[in-house]
Amino acid sequence: MQKSGFIPNLSLLTAGGKICCLRCTAKSKRSGLQCGRPASKESTSAKCHMHGGRGSSGPKTEEGRKRIAAANTKTGQYTKTTKLAMSKNSAHLAQLEDAMHVLGMTKATRTRGRKSAFYVPVTSVQGVCQMFLDAELHKAEASSESFKK
Ligand SMILES: [Zn+2]
Repeated sequence: MQKSGFIPNLSLLTAGGKICCLRCTAKSKRSGLQCGRPASKESTSAKCHMHGGRGSSGPKTEEGRKRIAAANTKTGQYTKTTKLAMSKNSAHLAQLEDAMHVLGMTKATRTRGRKSAFYVPVTSVQGVCQMFLDAELHKAEASSESFKK
């Protein structure tokens, strides 16, 4: 897409006037001048490699995408599933702290800061009972899911 008024120069003389090649048609936002680099050979829109002229834009098939993801995963510490599990564990810890305060087990100061998205405040003894019932329910669900596999 080119804005009206800007007509890009399509050819470029380089190597002291010895080589004539296609010129990158990108226009600078700052200076309004055309990019001075030669266009990439694999580019379909006459752009240099800095302005989107690379031929490949990554793997397309599901298999290829998975292979690249596996190659780039180092520890798996920041995968979606791991982060979700960490978030749930963090919420459970915060609820356990709530339960200790509700049951009068501690007078310690509360942990400050942002709570996990899964955190639901526990404010009563009934809430403490419900929290432990939910935990048992999730444990049963998790074990039944592992049987399915
Ligand atoms: Zn360029």
